[in-house]
Amino acid sequence: MTIAEIQTHGHGRQNRKWISPKGGLWFSIILKPRFKPAETTRLVFAASLAVAEAIETLYRVKPETKWPNDVLLHNKKVCGILAESGVTNGKVNYVIIGIGINAEFAAARLPEPLRKSASTLRTELRTHVALEPLLELTLERLERCYDLTLQRKFGRVLTAWKSYASFLGKPVELSNKHDKLCGIAENVEGDGSLIILTQKGCKERIRVGDLSMRVGAV
Ligand code: ADP
Repeated sequence: MTIAEIQTHGHGRQNRKWISPKGGLWFSIILKPRFKPAETTRLVFAASLAVAEAIETLYRVKPETKWPNDVLLHNKKVCGILAESGVTNGKVNYVIIGIGINAEFAAARLPEPLRKSASTLRTELRTHVALEPLLELTLERLERCYDLTLQRKFGRVLTAWKSYASFLGKPVELSNKHDKLCGIAENVEGDGSLIILTQKGCKERIRVGDLSMRVGAV
């Protein structure tokens, strides 16, 4: 297997920049599921579960999944996932799943402001992180999660994803440039929506979109 170590134009949602120093595991896969556009969100959960399971299996640590598209270790983001799909006439032609894992480089190589919320496997685990086994196991797990999703068994993927979702039951803040919403993260439902209980006691459903979630005191 050959791994390209360098990624020059990594991006996150809303074209936010994804910092990709040498030593990270940056890869994309293209899938062609017969999905309705709204169903492609499931693949973000399938991919983050695959990454969490691979890290747990290889390093005997418990990573955390953060709604909707991140994997954290020790409360710091070590992986980001992006799904971009091509849709014509309401039909999904393809979905590209981009997976970026901060693997074998020191967290000190991330820009200073990011280091509060992000880190790398090498720094958190204090060990050398081999890219090949991590890639292999992530792909193996992803294939399993993808098959379950295609077989209409996404509920099993989501249940497993939730077993890593340490933010559930905690106060969270959701924000983008225009909006901000606070509450207790109550659940993630079958369509990927996050249910939060606001301070006024109302339940709000947040669809997967451009809102970023921060976990902590509200
Ligand atoms: P968010 O995680 O804030 O919801 P995205 O999923 O779009 O947003 O991810 C992009 C964001 O991730 C960037 O705006 C930046 O804050 C952060 N980021 C960029 N590069 C890295 C990296 N290598 N590791 C961890 N976080 C990163």
